Amino acid sequence: MSDTLTLALSKGRIFKETLPLLAAAGIVPVDDPETSRKLILDTNLPDVKLIIVRASDVPTYVEYGGADIGVAGKDVLMEHPHAELYEPVDLKIARCKLMTAGKPDVEPSSGRLRVATKFVESTRRFYAEKGEQVEIIKLYGSMELAPLVGLADRIVDVVDTGNTLRANGLIPMEHIADISSRLVVNKASMKMKHKRMQSFIEHIRDAVREQNND
Ligand code: AMP
Repeated sequence: MSDTLTLALSKGRIFKETLPLLAAAGIVPVDDPETSRKLILDTNLPDVKLIIVRASDVPTYVEYGGADIGVAGKDVLMEHPHAELYEPVDLKIARCKLMTAGKPDVEPSSGRLRVATKFVESTRRFYAEKGEQVEIIKLYGSMELAPLVGLADRIVDVVDTGNTLRANGLIPMEHIADISSRLVVNKASMKMKHKRMQSFIEHIRDAVREQNND
């Protein structure tokens, strides 16, 4: 196994908020993923590469060794509960909440509650723990639409300011989990490249402490 470190990141908020932490670990990307079409980005360090993947694919790349390390939201990790990964650092970035939401003052249709979400696994677990039988409808986006057109009684989605819910006449209801991005690590890489990985993780951990004043 080469001593190159490969980091899997997704574009957008996670990438932007991870940059200062990487900088604290001495890593600065050469290319900007928002303007470059490259999927493998060089950094200032010849032995560190970044790969740009879909947020929901990060655990898969890291689990199978396509990347040594990744940054993934807890919401995504909760959908991969059996992934063989270490999760050594809470990066405390891209924070939000996983919640149920629905129309105010509307009684759900009789029978089983219909819940639309892309977070099928977390939703199944949440209602199972409440002992409530629900019908889960898998969607890939624009969940807010589902209650408006009668597709579902509730949605389960990540909520930050709540503006998107409000703009669509929905209100947040039950809190399922606090979400933030986590560093995830391939188990084999952790053994084979132990010193390099440990040093990277420590730098990131220190940067998180500094950023959060603790
Ligand atoms: P908001 O209107 O601030 O509640 O958030 C609007 C949308 O942004 C949500 O429906 C999510 O799709 C997305 N969002 C907000 N925060 C996050 C996050 N930390 N990670 C991923 N998606 C998010």
